[in-house]
Parts: sequence; C-alpha cells; structure tokens
Amino acid sequence: MALLQISEPGMSTAPHEHRLAAGIDLGTTNSLVASVRSGNATTLADDQGHHLLPSVVRYLKDGSVQVGQSAQTALTKDLQNGIASIKRLLGRSITDVKTLDGVLPYEFVNTNSSVPLIHTIAGDKSPIEISAEILKTLKTRAEKTLGGELKGVVITVPAYFDDAQRQATKDAARLADLNVYRLLNEPTAAAIAYGLDQNQTVDEKIIAVYDLGGGTFDISILRLNRGVFEVLATGGDSALGGDDFDHAIAQWILQQLKQATPDDNRQQKIKKLRQIMREARRVKEALTEAEEVTVSTQGFEGILTRTQFVALVEPLIKKTLFSCRRALRDAELEKNEVMDVVMVGGSTRMPIIRERVGEFFEQPPLVDIDPDKVVAIGAAIQADLLAGNKPDSDMLLLDVIPLSLGLETYGGLVEKIIARNTTIPVAKAQEFTTFKDNQNAMTIHVLQGERETVEENRSLAKFTLRGIPAMVAGAARIKVTFQVDADGLLNVSAEEQLTGAKSTIEVKPSYGLSDTAIESMITDSMTHAKEDMQARKLREQQVEADRTLEALDAAMATDGDTLLSKDERKILLEARSALVIAKQSATTETIDAAIKNMEKTAAFYVARRMDGNIRTAMAGKNINKFKD
Ligand code: ADP
Ligand code: MG
Repeated sequence: MALLQISEPGMSTAPHEHRLAAGIDLGTTNSLVASVRSGNATTLADDQGHHLLPSVVRYLKDGSVQVGQSAQTALTKDLQNGIASIKRLLGRSITDVKTLDGVLPYEFVNTNSSVPLIHTIAGDKSPIEISAEILKTLKTRAEKTLGGELKGVVITVPAYFDDAQRQATKDAARLADLNVYRLLNEPTAAAIAYGLDQNQTVDEKIIAVYDLGGGTFDISILRLNRGVFEVLATGGDSALGGDDFDHAIAQWILQQLKQATPDDNRQQKIKKLRQIMREARRVKEALTEAEEVTVSTQGFEGILTRTQFVALVEPLIKKTLFSCRRALRDAELEKNEVMDVVMVGGSTRMPIIRERVGEFFEQPPLVDIDPDKVVAIGAAIQADLLAGNKPDSDMLLLDVIPLSLGLETYGGLVEKIIARNTTIPVAKAQEFTTFKDNQNAMTIHVLQGERETVEENRSLAKFTLRGIPAMVAGAARIKVTFQVDADGLLNVSAEEQLTGAKSTIEVKPSYGLSDTAIESMITDSMTHAKEDMQARKLREQQVEADRTLEALDAAMATDGDTLLSKDERKILLEARSALVIAKQSATTETIDAAIKNMEKTAAFYVARRMDGNIRTAMAGKNINKFKD
C-alpha cells in the first residue's frame, strides 16, 4: 500500500497550479490533440470518441463552419466549400500554388495578394484562416476535456517546412487564440514520444523516422546529441501516401469491372469512382488485420488477398525505400549507423510496410505507440515540460535561435554570423579586416535581427578589440567567433590572428524580447526585404566613396605637394568635393558616377605616383620596399 503524504500547512501544491498544456499534430489528412494527464500523454477524443479529426473544413451559407468528419462526409457533394489538405498550401505563395493547380479542387481567387485565397460561400479564405478553424476545434476539444483554459501548446510541423510555412502555422495558431510555446518538428516529436531522448547511454545516436500518412511520405534522419535533436536529412514524396494505396486497389476493382459495365454518363462515372475509392480504402485498412477481404461494390463481388494487395502496391513501397536510401546518402550515413527506426502515420499500420522497412534498416522498427497518435503524444510531452509542470526533469534542449545574430560592418551594415532557427548550441567564426591603414582598434557591435542595416536591428552589445598591429587597410585578420550555448547564452570573441590580441563579451540574445516583438521583427524583415536591399546597396556605395576619398587624402598627404601642380591639386579637390556631395545623395547611381569621375580625374596622379615609386626604388633609396 502506498504511504499517504502529508504536507506542511499552506505548502501543498494546489491542483489548479498544474498548467494545462497540449500538443497538436496539425496533419494534412488528420489532426489530433494530446495532453499529459497524471503523468501519461494521451490523445483526446471528441464527444463520439474519435481521436482523429479529419483535416477538412467546410464553410456554410449562414457563416458557420464545419470541421472534421461532418465536413469530410459533405465533401463528396459539396466540393467547392469543403476544403481538404489545406496544409499543402500553408505558407505557400500564389506562384508555388500555381504548380499545384489542377491537383487541388479549389477555386482560387484572382488577387494581387501574394497569399492564395480560396473562394468559398462564406467569402475568400486564406490557408491560415482555414487551418485556424482546425486548430480552434482542437482547442475547444482540449479545453472541454481538460476542464480549463490551455496555457500553451506545442504544434508540430514537417521537418522540411521553411520559415514561411512555420510562420504561417504560428499565424494560424494566433488566429485560433492559442499560445504557441514552440513549433516542433514532427519526426522529433515522434522520437520524444518513444523517450529516445531519455537515459541516453551513448553520446550520440542516429534515428530514422519513417512517416507514411494519407497523402505524403516523409523520411527524416535525426541526430540526437545530449538532448538536442538535429535534422541531418529529410526526404520523401509530397504526392505519395495512403491515398495511392487506395488508388491501386480501386484500379484493380475497375479492371475486374471492365467487361461487365455498360457505358455510363460522366456524372454517373464520377459517383461510381468515388464509391469504388471508398471501398478500396475500407479494404486496404481491413487487410491490415485480415489475410483476405471481401470486396463488394458496384455489382462487383470478389476477394482480395494480402499477397495480391502487396503485388499491387509493390512499386509504391519501393519508392519510399528509395527515398530512405537517398536520405541516408544525404546524411552521409550507412544503414547500420541508424540506431532506432520510428514508424509514424496511419499507413505504417500496414504489415507489409513494417516488414519492408525492417528489412531495409536491418532492425525491427518501433511500432508500440499508435502511429497515428505518436506525433501528437510527443508534442504533448514537450508542451507539458514547457508549461513547467515537471520542474525537476531535465529540460529538453531543443532550442533554436529565434533571430539572426550578426555584427556591424563598415557603413552601418549588418553581417549575419548565425542565421535564425539554427539549433543551439552552435559556434561560428568569420574573419574581418581593418578599414584604414594602421587601424589599431576595432569595435565589435553585436546585433540581433533580420534587417540589413544597424538601425533596424537590435543592439545587443559592443566591445573593442585593441592592440591590432600597424598594417595597411585590409591586411589585418580578425577572427570573430559567435558561440551560443545550450541555455541560449551568446559569447562573442574577437582575436587578431597575428599577435593573438583577444577580447570577449557575453550576452543573452533574446533577453527582454517578447514573442510578439520577435515575430514583428521577422515580419518586418519580410515586408521590408526590397527596401533593405536598396538600403544595403546605397550603404555599400557610400562605403566605396569613403574608401576612394580615404585613398586620395592619404596620397595627397604623402606627396601631393611634390607631385602635383597647384592647378592639378585644384582639379582633384574639385572632384573630391563633388564626390563628398554625391555621397550624401540618396541614389547609388549618383555616387557611382562621382566615384568613377574621381577615379578618372585622378588617373594621371596615380600613374605619376607609380612612376615615382619605381624611380625612387631604382635609385636604391627604398630597395627593401622594391623587393617586397
Ligand atoms: P496525415 O499525417 O497525412 O494527416 P495520417 O497519419 O492520419 O495522415 O494517415 C492517414 C492514412 O492512414 C490514410 O491513408 C489511411 O487510410 C491510413 N490508415 C489508417 N489506418 C490504417 C490501417 N489500419 N491500415 C492501413 N492504412 C491505414
Ligand atoms: Mg502526419
């Protein structure tokens, strides 16, 4: 019998202190929500006991929205307003979508906006709004089941999702009024669900995640190193999934039917095909349990055995294994270096898939957790940790850098050293040089953000490296290293390579920045991308002007009096003033023209100086320099 515990008065942790958190698998075909309750992560069911929510949204005339099974059922009769597979469009631009045209049954609105809009009876809807409906439904389900408001969620995304797709996922969550602790890669979530990050006995471990869903196949190769998951390679096929297995069976049924059916009209044909597809799916799923299944549709009666089925889908299986081979090659790994293979997606229920994947990786894949639910479960575990419900457990170090880190270079420009979304810990070094002759100190200005110019980014720290030996401009080699440790602490050091003069500073990069501030900085960088490019060009041109002026001034200070006549000096100084004025102007063309003019005007002087150098050298006065 367990001992009852008694806590000091007033010291007991009230039950309401447990923060409600959930993990959401926002899938192409199906979506799920899961949560950790009494130490166990489980998916949450709807009123009818269904865990999987079909990712289908249907808009109705009265402005109401159906999500899930009811919308899916209506899909066959109301193709226009029922929207499936919206994840394929999330974060994609109009141009990306054009390539999918014809594949998707939606009517796109012709707009100038860069986001594709789908025409529905309730108005034009963006993929973000449509995805938000799915998230809202899951939020309501979770809050009802858990009995309170969700403090935060972890939403999973495919490992290959780019910034725009991730951002769109976050935007959808914001529309659904969800607080996103973090987006998590789907394969990483699956690995967490299996606890592969726990009790690590080896330093480093390679994991393959094989995810065969309804319409997509993803293979991810992960490296787990001290709690940090790193995606080494991703591969797959965005148009290969369970649906294709249904197709293969439907094709087989159609062949059997061929002789028997008289010619139907188009409408009847479509209706028939849909029914055949539905039967095909039922048969496929039944074959997971049974050795053979009776097929009955459109007057056709027959039996499909597992062996026959395998023969039908053989090319599909081969295709997925081909992607696995390529992903391993991309990761520069051999099959035997993979320590665990995790199965994800409803289609990995099929025994033949398990068998073939096992043969390929030469080990039985992990299938104990329901492959439909494994991603949501991993996300729930992560959400529970981030909510602070397990204070004594080791925090999973899955962090990425939210904003790029860089430093100021001459002309007020920013050179990015570590790109945002890089997993930490990370270290990167880059060499810089001096701008002026005999420059003996260099200021290192550390910045955070996505924009091109210093003013538009956030200043984190500034320090000066001194003791740079006297050298001509551009000769010194200063190595600047940015190092971010597992807690997100940034350490910047600068070292002059010749003398080893060194200077270091430590900063906390995201300190004081709220999520919204981070997001707006990212959005700004997108909206201002073009502007920034122009600003960058202008700055670069101004730096070029400075360099030209600097060189002229240095030369004139040395031998302007001896090599130039009074008139010649005047001409050069006029060109110089013109360049100084042009430098203030806002167009790169004006500056460029003034630089060219300056160079042309000074050409005779440059030639004369060169001559002079050779002559003095030949006269033996400066023999050392000549030898150089
Ligand atoms: P997604 O990740 O794309 O949202 P899921 O992981 O939910 O998709 O997988 C859906 C697919 O899984 C469908 O094609 C469905 O037919 C298939 N599936 C579900 N259960 C079984 C089963 N028992 N046997 C074979 N396939 C199944
Ligand atoms: Mg999935």
